[in-house]
Amino acid sequence: MNHILLIEDEESVSTVIKGYLEKEGYTVHCAISGLKGLDLLKTVDFKLIILDLMLPDISGEEVCKIIRQSSDVHIFMLTAKGSLNDKIEGLNIGADEYLIKPFSPRELTARVNALFRRISSKFPSSKVIFDDGYLRIDCDKRTVQILKQDVPFTPNEFDIICALVSAKGSVLSREQLIDKIFGVDFSGYDRTIDVHIKNIRKKIEIDTKNPKYVLTVMKAGYKFGGEK
Ligand code: CA
Repeated sequence: MNHILLIEDEESVSTVIKGYLEKEGYTVHCAISGLKGLDLLKTVDFKLIILDLMLPDISGEEVCKIIRQSSDVHIFMLTAKGSLNDKIEGLNIGADEYLIKPFSPRELTARVNALFRRISSKFPSSKVIFDDGYLRIDCDKRTVQILKQDVPFTPNEFDIICALVSAKGSVLSREQLIDKIFGVDFSGYDRTIDVHIKNIRKKIEIDTKNPKYVLTVMKAGYKFGGEK
């Protein structure tokens, strides 16, 4: 089932979001504080968490960090701050997408629909597996392992690495990656992809300054360098 957890203390905002998403057929559970949200998280198998950054008890960042310790559920963060730095910081702590307040409920709905389309159709039985003995990426099972140990990847990081592996050494531009990952006009920045790439390199490259797997192609984009 399509369960969404909405953690937002402003009732006027959450009522509108809930209304729009329920019209689309989602089941929306609302929490008015970070701790209440974390409690609800234990009871239902959520596919998406919509998380406000400014909450009365613990901050959205804290909630995000706690969730990421045990889950790779999709997280959309709502923020009134809206500066690029907040965006980057949020991506580093594991949020997948951003909506800057005030945003249109239609935009949120479009992004949620795009996400659920991706969840249900992403890499359908793609059987794309890369394995060089050190690094193993299985696009079907959505796992990344180094020396047979699971490496935690956020959904967006996983989508990026899988898009690159599936391209078999061809270059993908930032726009192509944004298109593959977000599936809708993404009102973010190209930098978003760069931040994800940086985080991916930290996780899988032995030497991040001299990457072997995720290669930058000057003025073009990125490509996977692990193919023999
Ligand atoms: Ca708030």
